Amino acid sequence: MKPDTPNLDIPYYQAGGNEVEVFEHAWRNRLPLLIKGPTGCGKTRFIAHMAARLGLPLYTVACHDDLTAADLVGRHLIGDGKTVWCDGPLTRAVREGGICYLDEVVEARKDTTVVLHPLADDRRILPIDRTGEVLEAPPSFMLVVSYNPGYQNLLKGMKPSTRQRFVSVRFDFPRAEQEEAILIGETACPPDLARRLVAIAGALRALKDRDLEEAASTRLLIYAALLIKDGMDPVAACRVGIIESLTDDAEVAEALMEVVSATF
Ligand code: ADP
Repeated sequence: MKPDTPNLDIPYYQAGGNEVEVFEHAWRNRLPLLIKGPTGCGKTRFIAHMAARLGLPLYTVACHDDLTAADLVGRHLIGDGKTVWCDGPLTRAVREGGICYLDEVVEARKDTTVVLHPLADDRRILPIDRTGEVLEAPPSFMLVVSYNPGYQNLLKGMKPSTRQRFVSVRFDFPRAEQEEAILIGETACPPDLARRLVAIAGALRALKDRDLEEAASTRLLIYAALLIKDGMDPVAACRVGIIESLTDDAEVAEALMEVVSATF
């Protein structure tokens, strides 16, 4: 596995608060970071930005319920009659002194997250049972995890013994003028289109708790902006780019489309 980020150019990231400073303070003090926030609000982009800014290799793992400790740490592979050890992304990041970012960490099985414990406290070690090695993380290594406290995760949550090892930052959707800047930065769409899409998102987010599992994300606004820029009718673009990704209920979709029709 190769690091995700070539360190030459820094991915665009519009800061919403003091998250850049928090990240740098945590990194300098060798503290792990937990980022919580809704899907599509910029968590992954933020980490890519910070990794490039600090010139660190980044290993990203999208967690899921089949993820095993071996997927993170590594395993023996057999080929040509030989057994060779192959580092997993967590081990690579530790060896290289980079960032390991575990996206949606609550999806991972509890026994998987336990391998993070000795890395996420002041020991900063990674014992590799299979090889007998105990890696000491270099000062530049940083463990970052994220999760979405909304949907379905209320019950799953994170064990207190895991979460209390992290400095924690809450992310939310950007303020309107910031989200407009992100849309323009990401898609080069006209400012008026950015304004309208952000207004739609504002109206949809106000409905969130009533009808929808998840609010309209910045990512979906970017999709709609790209489709419209490419010549699609704005109402149709918002339907496929935003509304149909938010709900499977046809009636709810029609109700949400009224917000769109009122704007375009
Ligand atoms: P998350 O990891 O929170 O699900 P992402 O980081 O993948 O979300 O964000 C989704 C997309 O939205 C990104 O690819 C990027 O285009 C855009 N985006 C969201 N927030 C920002 C931001 N603050 N600055 C720049 N782009 C952003």
